[in-house]
Amino acid sequence: MRWIRPIAMTALVLTLAACTTSPTGRQQLTLMSDSQLNEMGREAFAQYQQDLPAAGQAHQRYAQCVANAIVAELPERERDKDWQIRVFESEQANAFALPGGYMGVNTGLLDIAKTQDQLAAVVGHEIGHVIANHANERVSTHTSTQLALSVLGSASGMQGQGGQQLMGALGLGAQYGILLPFSRRHESEADVVGLRLMADAGFDPRASLALWENMSANGGQPPEWMSTHPSHGQRMQGLQAQMGSAMSRYEQARQAGRTPNCPRP
Ligand SMILES: [Zn+2]
Repeated sequence: MRWIRPIAMTALVLTLAACTTSPTGRQQLTLMSDSQLNEMGREAFAQYQQDLPAAGQAHQRYAQCVANAIVAELPERERDKDWQIRVFESEQANAFALPGGYMGVNTGLLDIAKTQDQLAAVVGHEIGHVIANHANERVSTHTSTQLALSVLGSASGMQGQGGQQLMGALGLGAQYGILLPFSRRHESEADVVGLRLMADAGFDPRASLALWENMSANGGQPPEWMSTHPSHGQRMQGLQAQMGSAMSRYEQARQAGRTPNCPRP
């Protein structure tokens, strides 16, 4: 049965090859179907949970509380995803999001994101990558699409050799020794979308700037944010430019009673 899948999926990819538009109005080439991508995300997340130890329940509840508040404000078609977030025990300050809505934050990043609002900036950014279909764009090169199809069609799946490469392409590279950062364009777009989302959920958007200050003070940035170009300064400028509209969204959210309260463990 397995050998039929690659053939069927190649046909699917060819018919679905499409140009889509990102939340900020950018044209995108997305060769994989949503269902294929979501399945890859789900498999990669399961593999990741086998490979890394989970943090304690208090940390899980904290991250879940922040994620729930943001997911509740997503457009309906995005809210339907299988949104899940897990906190992993790791010193490495990193976070990730996979197609389908599977997210992870390491305890090392919780040391840098010091408040619920700063964590909301992280989670908003990650959700921004997902709803802007960045993984699909990344995988939509000839080689990556071939790789994705061969992994999906193989019996070893994510555990095989191609599986780790594919997990890298999906945004899990840091843990698997494959550094494949999101592009500058993707990073800036995730920043903009994330800022809107956190504000709509009633988290203070100014916390995104505080988060970046903490990262500078910490002497670096998490691998997921390590795109080739935008420096701390450029990113903070990008956030500043959107802050006026984010603040009015935030005030509206607060007036509407969206005042999330997620106690930090
Ligand atoms: Zn990012």
